[in-house]
Amino acid sequence: MGVTTALEWLSSCSGCEISILNIGEDLIPIITEALDIVHAPVLMDHKYFGQTGEGTVLTIPEATVGIVTGGVSNHEHLEVLEEMRRKCTVLIALGTCATHGGIPALMNGQNRKESWEGIYKTRGTDPGAQVPTIEVPAPLDRVYACDEKVKIDMHVPGCPPNPAHIAEAIISLLENRPAVLPTKSVCDTCPTRREGKGEVHMLKRFLTNAEFNPTEPISEMRCLLEQGYLCMGPVTAAGCAKRGAPSCISARVPCRGCFGPVRREGNQLLDMMNALASNGIDYNSVIDRRSLLRFSGAHGLLKPLIKKEVEEE
Ligand code: SF4
Ligand code: SF4
Ligand code: SF4
Repeated sequence: MGVTTALEWLSSCSGCEISILNIGEDLIPIITEALDIVHAPVLMDHKYFGQTGEGTVLTIPEATVGIVTGGVSNHEHLEVLEEMRRKCTVLIALGTCATHGGIPALMNGQNRKESWEGIYKTRGTDPGAQVPTIEVPAPLDRVYACDEKVKIDMHVPGCPPNPAHIAEAIISLLENRPAVLPTKSVCDTCPTRREGKGEVHMLKRFLTNAEFNPTEPISEMRCLLEQGYLCMGPVTAAGCAKRGAPSCISARVPCRGCFGPVRREGNQLLDMMNALASNGIDYNSVIDRRSLLRFSGAHGLLKPLIKKEVEEE
């Protein structure tokens, strides 16, 4: 009998669950011998209110390890998350949506009422339609990361997270030792050539390829930030490197920040402004600064713009 484990997904795309599968062959002994999965909506239907709906309280079975993916976007997510916290001894937030709000928290940059009306009442849908208030869970005032609502014992960011980190998180719990997870930045794992401040003072838009010779290794390509491209490697947690280079850099494109900030409480927007200044690049040349929070808009960092009143003449 393995360690009882419960999985849950909140506002999630299921990419994190695919990442669990991507652990590959190493997953087989974990699943067959080490873990006893008692609850996993991604794998099997589970009736929160009893098999015939006889219950009155949302219930999840007790488990030693709980793994939650996705941001907390509506009241159902919150109820599920709170029940996971009550029933699981150790709770892991898996993926950048769970750790920092991720893609769902992009919504925090918009007025909630306006964005819901934009979804249900557009010219492309039905301008006369009503925003539903029954049968769908009511939204929260904004999208939250899991640790804003309950205590989280382990954070494994990434969009999607690295399968090796998921395996390490699980195995460390089974072995009763701290997990060994990356603590550095994407830049720290990047082999590109750095020469110090370049002659570029304004960011270039990534409409043309960076300069590199495709026949040469990544280590011969000059750092994309030094080439003037908005590469978020300095302010993004490491963890995506494969075959000796961060994922995007190995495809010769800039890092977009998908592992969230290097320090869990970091602010990718402010940190990137500093990184640009340190590289001699005018931060005013970032076209949409708030986009720097595209993966980490929870924790109150991404907010709707306050519309200035237009004074009538
Ligand atoms: S972190 Fe990425 S892969 Fe995981 S649920 Fe969120 S969007 Fe999907
Ligand atoms: S800024 Fe980008 S290209 Fe430059 S070292 Fe960091 S991750 Fe690599
Ligand atoms: S390079 Fe940046 S955006 Fe690309 S996978 Fe890694 S952390 Fe994510």
